[in-house]
Amino acid sequence: MLQTSDIRRICCGAYQENAYLVCPQGRTDAFAVDPGDDLPALRRAIAGSGRSLAAILLTHGHFDHMLAAQPLAEESGATVYIHAADAEMLDDADKCAYSPEVSRLRPPRGLARVPYGETVEVCGQALRVLHTPGHSRGSVCLLAEGNILFSGDTLFCAGYGRTDLHGGDDAQMLRSLKALLALPGETVVLPGHGPATTIAAERRRYGL
Ligand SMILES: [Zn+2]
Repeated sequence: MLQTSDIRRICCGAYQENAYLVCPQGRTDAFAVDPGDDLPALRRAIAGSGRSLAAILLTHGHFDHMLAAQPLAEESGATVYIHAADAEMLDDADKCAYSPEVSRLRPPRGLARVPYGETVEVCGQALRVLHTPGHSRGSVCLLAEGNILFSGDTLFCAGYGRTDLHGGDDAQMLRSLKALLALPGETVVLPGHGPATTIAAERRRYGL
């Protein structure tokens, strides 16, 4: 079971994207969620944890969430996971919304990736992969045992992801948000931008 104290947030790049380094207890390895555009900070966090990086879990294919995935995967041998519907975004600067003006790292080239199944097993943890399209076709939220949700750009504290980029869809976003807000209230939400929240707090905000 994961605890919030096992998780470190690294705020990356011009869009202040939240990468998470997850170090489950009793292990010597770690996994990263959405390693964005700050390779030095991510390397420092991994080195500081004293662990090997076993996996990189992407919540979706936008550039600000994945620019460090290739260099980190190459230097660690970590497996990169992404939903099949967003895999094409790793190979396309337009579809991943790459912005050279604000980016330090370049988009990936030929990055090997594994499509998610219904669950993903990393570092002794089984995370449920919730397909939550709307922000992109292959957006997922990752639900760890211990009621911790990595919500990417689908659900934020006091907001949700935009739907006007490649593959975005308002009706799908509404369905995805309804499904997420039906999770247990105590679920801790760790979003792709901004502060953490809980499902109960977000439900109250929407009068549910
Ligand atoms: Zn995004």
